[in-house]
Order: sequence, then structure tokens, then C-alpha cells
Amino acid sequence: MQIRKPTGVRLERKKEASLLNWNLKRPLPPEKISIPLSLASLPCVRAGDAVQAGQMIAKPEGPKGVSVHAGIAGVVEKTGILENGRNREISAIGIRRQGEPKTVPAPDPRKGWEGIDSEELLKIFRNSGLVMTNPGEEPVHVKIQRHVSARSVIINGCEPEPYLTCEQVLIMSHPVEVLRGAEILRKACGAARIVFAFEDTNLETIELIKSKIYFLKWEQAEVRTVPAIYPQGLESTLLQAWSRGKEDEAVVFPASTAFAAYEAVALQKPFYERVVTVGGECVVEPRSLWLPLGVSFQDAIRACKGVMREPEKVLMGGPMAGAEKKTGESFVTAGTSAILALPKEVVKKGKEEPCIRCGLCVDHCPVSLSPATITLAAEQKEFGIAGAWDAADCIECGNCAYICPSNRPMLELIHLAKGHMRQVAAHG
Ligand code: SF4
Ligand code: SF4
Repeated sequence: MQIRKPTGVRLERKKEASLLNWNLKRPLPPEKISIPLSLASLPCVRAGDAVQAGQMIAKPEGPKGVSVHAGIAGVVEKTGILENGRNREISAIGIRRQGEPKTVPAPDPRKGWEGIDSEELLKIFRNSGLVMTNPGEEPVHVKIQRHVSARSVIINGCEPEPYLTCEQVLIMSHPVEVLRGAEILRKACGAARIVFAFEDTNLETIELIKSKIYFLKWEQAEVRTVPAIYPQGLESTLLQAWSRGKEDEAVVFPASTAFAAYEAVALQKPFYERVVTVGGECVVEPRSLWLPLGVSFQDAIRACKGVMREPEKVLMGGPMAGAEKKTGESFVTAGTSAILALPKEVVKKGKEEPCIRCGLCVDHCPVSLSPATITLAAEQKEFGIAGAWDAADCIECGNCAYICPSNRPMLELIHLAKGHMRQVAAHG
């Protein structure tokens, strides 16, 4: 992958609406949740079992396995198959709340957590169900084991997608916890340094974190910025800019993962909830708020007073790289940063036209690919050609789709090519 100077598109930010409701609230538990399970977790409860909030409901399966915990108290309704928004069937555990909704009691802090060594930290991550709070949802202990030679831990506080404020609100509300979590992750990785990454326009957060680093007298930490142009601030672009291969390897964690690591280690709190931005022009009270994993998109939007008009599209994630979802059939998972209900005038999708070879997609691709060639090849089912033009290096940022004057379905075609290449790699 060729490195080049920061590139991208300057997008309308649209973050103000959810920042108006600044206080990070935790709505009362929903009536039911459905928690999707990966193959790395084995259910340890059965239908009819009563469970408490925070109780383990699935055990880690194999060395890459991770436990799963109930986000509400209630009765296990079913363990079975659930259709998720990506047309994939996955196994899930459904829990129905019993009685009146109650707030979850605070867990007991862990004594002497600052002295825990790396090996023990990885065990805590695994048993707390800690996974990356990004779409990959990789278990944190597995990610750390893949980066044993990392010299720097990058804590990513950037949110380059419009509307999204979940990381910013969490950092501004709990800066010390995020810093402590970053230090826990640095120790677990055996890295020497911590780099906090922010967009250069996010001045309040930058100043807040710099002042906390100063007061903690941390020489191992620094703040760095990236230009506020999309997709600068995504994990892959940070690595491209700041990691120099094996000799100065870096590993990136979202700030919300650092916060969850702090809770798991210092507070003995399993990972069963996250901050999600519920927004878009259709939502009555857009905001970032705590939601239990497994809550339906419908209930999440209801917790923000519902919609004032019917959305044309509901997205999981931002408008550039997010995926369209059905509200009743989609559930918050560790990687759900946002639920956006967008009206027609925002979604506006013009008629698809043939490629006019304008080259705009090539100019705006942050990893120097030729999106036009890759997608034209995918359209012709010439997946070998798409592979030869490095389709696998695509970070799925959506820049090419955004910029294309012919409204070509760039991301869909890239997904098609990458899916085909994955199948070939798996089956030969
Ligand atoms: S080809 Fe991939 S990385 Fe390049 S602009 Fe398109 S989506 Fe982004
Ligand atoms: S931006 Fe669209 S029309 Fe222009 S070269 Fe790329 S795919 Fe073709």
C-alpha cells in the first residue's frame, strides 16, 4: 500500500444536533434485548433461566473466544438463530425484562488493579467480553496478541463521519477513565508510548486531554492531530500516517475501547453496554447515550423520543461507510457507533449512470487505489482483475461512492469483489 499525503473530502459535519443533549444518559432498560453471538462464544444459559445484568450468558470458545454478558436483568427467552441486517443468520440469545425496569447496580472496584501484569490483563479482557468497539468487533485480547511488537498504542478519538459524536461525548464526560484505559492497553501490549489522536478542529477535547496528561505527569503520552477531512482519522489512515512498519509498529484502539478496558479492569464491570449516537434529521431528540448491547434499533430511537417523520433510510454507522438496516430486526452490537434515521432529501440518490472515466474517485481514494477499474472489473465479474488492482487494500471508506458523479454503486461492487476474493482464499 503506497503512502501519500492526507487526502479525502471535507464533509458537512452535522454533529451539533446530538451535541445539544450533551449529558450522557442511560435510559431505563428496554423490554427485551437480543444479543448476537459469534462462533467464539458458547451459550451457558438456557431458555427460562433468570439472569442478572452483567451475568455471563456465553463462555469463551477456544483461545480466540470471548465471553458475553447480559445487558439487562430478566429471563432468557431463547437461544437460537437470528437474522441480522447483513442477510446473515447468526446465533443470538434473547432476554426479556422481568418486572419494572431498574437501573443496574454499580459494580465493586477491583483492589490493586494498577499492578496487574499483561498476561492477567488479557485474561480479564477475555472474561469481561471485551471486544473492539468498531465494525470489526475483534476480541481485544486477540488484537493485542496479534500486535506483540507494537511500540505505540494509538487511542483514536477521531470521528470523521458526519453526525457521529459518541467518542467525543464519552471522552469529554470521562477523560480520566479514557486515559486510565489507555494506560491499561499500553501495559497489556507492552508498548512504550500512547498517542491520542484527534481531528484538528476538535479543540476542546484536545485541550482537555492535554491538560489531563500534564497533571498526571505522563511522559509516555502525547496528543497528535489529523486534518478534519474524511476519511482521515479512520484506523487505517492513522496507521498509514504514523506507523512505520515492524520497526515502529502501532496498534489502534477506539477511545471507547480504552474506556471499556478501564471499566473491565478497575471496576470489574463486564462489557455489556456502549455509547451510541442516535441521530439524523428524523430523530426527535438526537443524542449520544448509553445503550445495552442487544437493544433493537427501534427501542434505541424510542429512547430518543422517536421520529418526527418517516426516515427514508436507517443506517448503522455513518453516512459514508455505514450499512442500511431495518429498525425492528437490527440490534446494537459492540461495533454500533451510530443509528441514523435519515430523510429523503439527505439520502438523495441520483440515477446510476455509466462510468465517464473522470478520475475523481482515483484522486480521492486515501489508499491510492483505482476504484473505477476495480468496480468496472467487479461489474463484469472479473474478480481476478479486481484483485490484481489491490481491491483487498480498500478500507471501505466510501469516498469514491460519495464523489462519483455517475452515482455508481462503488461500495456494493467493492464488497462483491472482496467477498469473492475471500471465498477463493478460503476454498482455493
Ligand atoms: S476504493 Fe475503497 S479506500 Fe478507495 S475511496 Fe473507494 S472505498 Fe475508499
Ligand atoms: S468517479 Fe465515477 S465516473 Fe468518475 S471515474 Fe470514478 S467511477 Fe468513473
